[in-house]
Amino acid sequence: YDDRDGKIWMDGKLVEWRGANVHILTHALHYASAVFEGERCYNGKIFKSTEHSERLIHSGKLLDMDIPWTVEQINAAKDEVLKANGYTDAYVRAIAFRGAGDEMGVAALANPVRLAIAAWEWGAYYGDAKFKGARLDISKWKRPSPETIPSEAKAAGLYMICTMSKHAAQARGCSDAMMFDYRGYVAEATGANIFFVKNGEVHTPKADCFLNGITRQTVLQMLRDMQITVHERHIMPEELEGFEQCWLTGTAAEVTPVGQIGTYNFEVGELTKRVATEYEKLVRS
Ligand code: PMP
Repeated sequence: YDDRDGKIWMDGKLVEWRGANVHILTHALHYASAVFEGERCYNGKIFKSTEHSERLIHSGKLLDMDIPWTVEQINAAKDEVLKANGYTDAYVRAIAFRGAGDEMGVAALANPVRLAIAAWEWGAYYGDAKFKGARLDISKWKRPSPETIPSEAKAAGLYMICTMSKHAAQARGCSDAMMFDYRGYVAEATGANIFFVKNGEVHTPKADCFLNGITRQTVLQMLRDMQITVHERHIMPEELEGFEQCWLTGTAAEVTPVGQIGTYNFEVGELTKRVATEYEKLVRS
């Protein structure tokens, strides 16, 4: 991803893609002092751009980082990057991080908080699983307690176990991994939230120790508008057997059906297809 043409927005100006570098003593690289956003632009408009910018600022605050840009400035910068690269349909990645500076220890409040925004074309996150249903492995890593780490932040440090889980899943021929939380309840996939269907009703884990995704919230509202009963609750692993359908939600994943989790199978059913279609319509409207 580093060796290509294009422009990236860094700290207020567009720079050449290849030159969008940081110093090796960047605090974030050593101590994970970084928060980020993944967004999608459809037909020239970023879906829920303001919500993403607000979440970025909020995630930053949770990590003691005051991002020196307003929501409006961040929104404008994202649009500028899309325009500079000529994209109308793309994935947008904003990252705020503690840079290099006067300090190089764990504490580094004196170092600047920096912001960079890139955009690139990114098709279906799970490839043809979008139609067939993704196969998920079960991760050995558990989502941590909110008393261990600010789990509602979209913070780089939270992704270490996601990367390890996804590597292990791919080595076993799966598209992704489902993770349990520190209490043993079903939590989410490594970059997407999870939903289940049983007897026409929807069940989804309560977002009390993982990212309450913007797509998750959008889909919950869609389901309410469709008058479908939704249970946001703690889900035990043994319940997986009784669920009929399953899908993942996320900016990159959009609404992706799940066909298998470990040894449990799910059908790509009518409700899953309907939610996926409605989401697609909504983001492009
Ligand atoms: N959980 C994790 C761990 C994620 O990385 C993402 C993707 N940002 C999500 C859930 C879904 O969040 P959103 O719908 O806001 O993209």
